Amino acid sequence: MHDHRKLGRELELFDTDPLIGAGLPYWLPAGAAIRHALEEYIREVERRAGYQHVYSPVIGKRELYEISGHWSHYRDGMYPPMDIGGEQAVLRPSLCPHHALIYRSRARSYRDLPLRMAELGGMYRAELSGVLGGLTRVRAIQLNDAHIFCAPDQVAAEAAAALGLIKQAYRALGIEPARYRLSLPSRDGKYVGGRDMWDRAAGLLEQVLGSAGVPYEAEEGEAAFYGPKIDVQIADSAEREASLSTVQVDFYLPERFGLEYIGADGARHRPVMVHRSVIGSAERAVAHLIDVYGGALPAWLAPVQLAALPVGDAQLPEADALAERAVGRGLRAVVARPESGSLGARIHASRLVPYQAVIGAREAAAGEAALRLRDGRRLPARPAGEVLARIGERVAAHSTELWEATG
Ligand SMILES: [Zn+2]
Repeated sequence: MHDHRKLGRELELFDTDPLIGAGLPYWLPAGAAIRHALEEYIREVERRAGYQHVYSPVIGKRELYEISGHWSHYRDGMYPPMDIGGEQAVLRPSLCPHHALIYRSRARSYRDLPLRMAELGGMYRAELSGVLGGLTRVRAIQLNDAHIFCAPDQVAAEAAAALGLIKQAYRALGIEPARYRLSLPSRDGKYVGGRDMWDRAAGLLEQVLGSAGVPYEAEEGEAAFYGPKIDVQIADSAEREASLSTVQVDFYLPERFGLEYIGADGARHRPVMVHRSVIGSAERAVAHLIDVYGGALPAWLAPVQLAALPVGDAQLPEADALAERAVGRGLRAVVARPESGSLGARIHASRLVPYQAVIGAREAAAGEAALRLRDGRRLPARPAGEVLARIGERVAAHSTELWEATG
């Protein structure tokens, strides 16, 4: 494994500036391209799984977090309130309260459930400066979040489906969980609501893990303040563990916000909230991908997917045309121009690019491209349009394989 902080600088993915502040990285174009591909992927996966996306503000009134319980349970991790127009506003420590309000803003019927509300949204954590670093400990977080509002008898199926989405995403990303953790409350009374509620929620999650056939370890003291959760743990190059994905069952916030739906019986009922994140935060997910791949990312995530390499100046027009066609097809392509070095030096400089198209006199004349794959494989020259179509298929498949086995 690699160190994402070192590679982040070397590959110009992200950086920080003391004037912006510690723990507040900005994303350079190559890093932003990775993040954008990841965000696009997850939105599409969620859309197909029946989620509806919303946007909500990263600020809320202090009162909102007093209702949700964040203010009393999580205040140390929050930024201090800002006075604005005689009111106190805070940067949000989570998206849940906003989503609860969006749910509450309309009358809901049992026919609307399960209602799966998703957002890739910002949240803020007042981490101490001593622990900040790279993309893993930051003060501004972009979370792949969703809340499923459902009837009690839908909870197990929804939590299981969320776990299924996590597995699907890990396959596309080519990452392996270190372990699954069932995070339970500690016994010190820090957790809200009645014991029954916690036992019921934990029982549901146990059932989900059991029927998914996933080995897990139960751990006390790791739950959210409003409910127990399944955490999917990943490990970095130093074997430090962190939670990336999570599925949580929550009977508490629906109570606090007085959420309701009209049941088939015409009476008012209380929904359950399933909180889930498939890829965690954009920051932590990209940091982990850099750790795992050392910059040689799967083609669909690579900042540059295709490098066109003209052998000499004479083939520059054809190389430019190939890159332009690739960009027109939605690929990220560059031309490694002859003035930047010998062909060998340019191939070396492009070693992290999954597809390298060498264009010599013969290929230029025939309108072809001879593909070199990042793993060293060389493919015979094929018409340029065909080569681009094949690359486009590989990228669209969100595969970790650079080429079909028969390639
Ligand atoms: Zn939540």
